[in-house]
Amino acid sequence: MGIAASSAPALLVDRLTKSFQHGNETIEAVKDVSIRVNPGDFVAVMGPSGSGKSTLLNVVAGLTAPTEGAVRISGLNLFDMSDHERTLFRRRHIGLVFQSFNLIPSLTGEENISLPLLLGGEKVPAERMATLIERLGLDRVRSRRPDSMSGGEQQRVAIGRALVTAPSLILADEPTGSLDSVNGRKLCESFARLCAEDGAAVLMVTHNPAVAFFAERTVVLHDGRVAHECRSKDYGSVQEFAGDCLAHSESGREAAS
Ligand code: ADP
Ligand code: MG
Repeated sequence: MGIAASSAPALLVDRLTKSFQHGNETIEAVKDVSIRVNPGDFVAVMGPSGSGKSTLLNVVAGLTAPTEGAVRISGLNLFDMSDHERTLFRRRHIGLVFQSFNLIPSLTGEENISLPLLLGGEKVPAERMATLIERLGLDRVRSRRPDSMSGGEQQRVAIGRALVTAPSLILADEPTGSLDSVNGRKLCESFARLCAEDGAAVLMVTHNPAVAFFAERTVVLHDGRVAHECRSKDYGSVQEFAGDCLAHSESGREAAS
């Protein structure tokens, strides 16, 4: 996996605050958020639009610096690194999946998947590529370009690209947003399998309770703060889970305490 094996959590978000300055006004998009994700954990972050989900994910990915607090990945503080170190670290240890697939139109499925390693001047071992293609069901599109793939296939290629370095942490922002419900469910099932079989840690942002229900644990944000935390297995049905999450994301932390 590349990082020295340790008992450190795959991800530790420690009292993270991120504010933006708009003229005289300060917008606190994320306020004092702490989240721990162990190797093998699949955690969802839920909350309505504007609750700070994407901001949180961007800081955790090291794309933007926190105002206060720390992000530790396998014990290493992301913002103690130089920009260059952080870029190399991200490429090697974090797999990023966004709602828009961001595939390169002129490259084939297999070439798109290989990209993170190609950028570092490395080739993908044939066996690893074969395994990824098989697990993601991409045999049909390995030598096709994105414009002749379905949405589900494009998203799976984007996931292959995120996984090609065998990252210890996978970060996904609304990864099912452009997919129909069947492909959305398949995507969540493959995340769950990655956690169970490879010991990868997944932090997935979504506003959709039916998607969050696939994760073991869900953190609900309201107005940038953690309003609620729960486990899917403690609910009898998706409906019950959704009702509880929505109640907390609408009324905020007052209702949670
Ligand atoms: P979500 O992903 O849950 O919809 P965001 O993290 O995108 O929420 O946004 C949270 C809040 O932070 C919103 O009020 C948004 O307008 C604000 N925000 C996000 N990014 C920026 C930015 N780059 N500059 C200023 N304000 C921002
Ligand atoms: Mg968002």
